[in-house]
Amino acid sequence: RNQVKILGVPIDQITAQEAFQQLTVFLEGDTLKKVYTPNPEIIMVAQQDQRLLNVLQEADLVLPDGIGLIIASKIKGLGLKERVTGIDTMDKLLTYCGEKQKSIFLMGGKPGIAALACETMKKQYRGIKIAGFHHGYFQETDEPQIIEEINQVAPDVLFVCLGAPKQEKWIHKYRDQLNCKLAMGVGGSVDIYAG
Ligand code: UDP
Repeated sequence: RNQVKILGVPIDQITAQEAFQQLTVFLEGDTLKKVYTPNPEIIMVAQQDQRLLNVLQEADLVLPDGIGLIIASKIKGLGLKERVTGIDTMDKLLTYCGEKQKSIFLMGGKPGIAALACETMKKQYRGIKIAGFHHGYFQETDEPQIIEEINQVAPDVLFVCLGAPKQEKWIHKYRDQLNCKLAMGVGGSVDIYAG
């Protein structure tokens, strides 16, 4: 695993296709893998937020989402290969999950939005197994119940759309309790799929 550091944040030196390959490997593993797609804004936030920096440092894969990161890498000769967006990676992963009978759980967005997004996914990705969904406006006291709901259906992939850096911290907080193979923070993707 080759990573480059941008302002102390390790980013994987990987193409979109290599990232996708890595995710398919993660899906066959037996521990939860945490995947984030920070943009320059989040890297700036991490400068003032040690906890966020730790969360990003402990990720299993950090994708360079944002052309600003690629430009920074070029200027400094750091060697990032290309921009890898969360939404593009999610699209590839959903196609793969449909083909391989892997299940997904979608969390986040305003009430009703995740359900709409799932309807789009069912139309767009042949064979996709949607294990469940949940909106993203819950209280901390609701979280044990949500974890239970996710673990009951044990999805292969958990997409978390709570906005950055909330989603990254949420995944990190529950990393040892979540019964899934892959948890990925994908920001506003739920809204994109909802249309
Ligand atoms: N969101 C959520 N719970 C929250 C805050 C945000 O579910 O407590 C959702 C919001 O509805 C949106 C998504 O997180 O669907 C991404 O939010 P935003 O666009 O602010 O984040 P970014 O894409 O910039 O990470």
